[in-house]
Amino acid sequence: MTDIKSLTFPELQAFVLDSGFPKFRAAQISGWLQKGVTDFDEMRNLPESIRSYLKTSCYISVANIEKKFVSRYDKTVKYLFSFCDGECVESVLMSYRHGWSICISTQVGCKMGCTFCATGKSGYSRDLTASEMLAQIEAAQRDQNIRVSNVVLMGMGEPLDNYENVLRFLRIVSDEKGLNIGMRHITLSTCGIVPKIEQLARERLQINLAVSLHAPNDEIRSRTMPIAKAYPMERLLEACGYYFEMTGRRVTFEYALISGVNDSDACAKELGKRLRGMNCHVNLIPVNTVEGTGYQKSNLQRQQSFENILAADGVTATVRRTLGSDINASCGQLRRKHLKEGGQ
Ligand code: SAH
Ligand code: SF4
Repeated sequence: MTDIKSLTFPELQAFVLDSGFPKFRAAQISGWLQKGVTDFDEMRNLPESIRSYLKTSCYISVANIEKKFVSRYDKTVKYLFSFCDGECVESVLMSYRHGWSICISTQVGCKMGCTFCATGKSGYSRDLTASEMLAQIEAAQRDQNIRVSNVVLMGMGEPLDNYENVLRFLRIVSDEKGLNIGMRHITLSTCGIVPKIEQLARERLQINLAVSLHAPNDEIRSRTMPIAKAYPMERLLEACGYYFEMTGRRVTFEYALISGVNDSDACAKELGKRLRGMNCHVNLIPVNTVEGTGYQKSNLQRQQSFENILAADGVTATVRRTLGSDINASCGQLRRKHLKEGGQ
């Protein structure tokens, strides 16, 4: 069976032609797929012969809303989606002044095992296909009757550990004939798989790269992020420089402030020294408390002090506003709870 939503538009055209149908049918099929139809019978402008052929040769991948939480404080909506094999992932839809942004998952679970992360704690099941990444966006758009303008690959999973499917997703989601969300409106977050960052840089896409740093040196970093043992920070920062060189896009560093672990003034000074002169931005995020980790957020004074020290070195940093704080909007927590309650 062909996963029809994972085909790029030229591939869909080739598929339609190979199946003996006129080329213009590809645009019709693609139009329906973007509307989020879940059944070929909903494609009303296709003749019955084509619909029944599609039914026997293809499937439409769908993200079913398993659970949904709407924040009382802002318009944030958190979804637990399930796919045809019952596996679940989380997505978070957020409203900003410039429009709707969605944070989607790229894998069911994650292999990287960061100690502060709820996703890392519940292990890895499988990669998502490109169509399953698209399906999360379409399902949220359909549910809220809105158009998403920004996408962040910051949900469950490590996008660069699922490189081929993520690249395919990026090409389809940004296609004018697809959801048409421009590359500049897409952010990919990685824990720092250096060779894959370099490979991504060579694709010269215009997507924003976010790198989860969370420490000023390898010693502290490897306490929370196993990937730090495979790729030292020196190489990681070089790869980020290379990404900027190849794409012209400024890299963002994610830094979760964990009380007593990585939030001292000394950490801020060391980080400032390392990042000084780099074309980058630092997002400071008070760590989300995940059950069983024992980690606590840094207090407001620590957050402020950290930001000020970076600023003194000319490194721009902002403490990120938390949306959906009442619905555990940071990813991985909902699926973990679902698993504990006996879900798949
Ligand atoms: N695997 C990718 C993208 C998914 S994680 C990555 O690690 O970058 C998305 C972001 O959430 C990452 O920056 C990650 O470090 C951060 N994160 C994970 N658990 C967190 C927590 N408990 N509190 C704050 N940020 C967290
Ligand atoms: Fe995986 Fe990212 Fe969580 Fe680390 S922070 S375990 S890389 S999802």
